Amino acid sequence: MRDLNDICDECKGEDESVTQNLILIGFKLCKSCRISKTIFPI
Ligand SMILES: [Zn+2]
Repeated sequence: MRDLNDICDECKGEDESVTQNLILIGFKLCKSCRISKTIFPI
């Protein structure tokens, strides 16, 4: 179950917000990477 951890796909950092963002936005991102993705989407 590799998705059930708190490791950010972007920075490989561990943060409790990763799981929350996975549920909320469907991406395994910590809060700082989520902001980056939101401002600069691929
Ligand atoms: Zn990150």
